[in-house]
Amino acid sequence: MERRYGGQDCLLVIDVQNDFMPGGALAVPHGDEVVPVINRLAAHFDHVVLTQDWHPDDHVSFSASHAGTEPFQTTTLHYGEQVLWPSHCVQGEPGAALHAQLEVPHARLLLRKGHHRAVDSYSAFVEADRKTRTGLAGYLHEQGVRRVFCVGLATDYCVAWSALDARAAGFEAAVIEDACRAIDLQGSLQAAWERLAAAGVQRLQSADLLRADLAPA
Ligand SMILES: [Zn+2]
Repeated sequence: MERRYGGQDCLLVIDVQNDFMPGGALAVPHGDEVVPVINRLAAHFDHVVLTQDWHPDDHVSFSASHAGTEPFQTTTLHYGEQVLWPSHCVQGEPGAALHAQLEVPHARLLLRKGHHRAVDSYSAFVEADRKTRTGLAGYLHEQGVRRVFCVGLATDYCVAWSALDARAAGFEAAVIEDACRAIDLQGSLQAAWERLAAAGVQRLQSADLLRADLAPA
């Protein structure tokens, strides 16, 4: 099949991993529903990048690493506010594996993030200290990418932060709403959509991408 989205476009598939699926350690409601949507979209992209949340087992974002805390409470770390999560996506564990039905054999890059013990990384571009860069912006710029289409989990955390940082790095960016699902802690989903809109990130549906008129000529 001829792919509709060529070298200037990248589909960025964020954290489609077992621990974020129903029954997983940090389940995103209906997270598994993104898989067929992403598979369908990815078939139209030459350039697909996958990310994988990939933490050491004593990671700073885990509630278990902070005595006396509970998952989903917020704390202050050296770089600012941090939600404390259930332990998830531990390096090499089955929960960190990509969903078995994700079918993107032509993906070019698998970027692991969150591997520094003392810093979380929702974003695929810049870690939560807002200083440490993953190298993804440089890679995409070198590849001639201009537009980044973000899909995966979760809309209001890793997808939103990645889309905002894609914009900040000079790319056009979009979030494909029906190819994402949210955690939605205390209004975080609505807040994320507002930040995305303010930053000029497009809010699209997968059907929009499959319409001929949105693709480059
Ligand atoms: Zn994580």
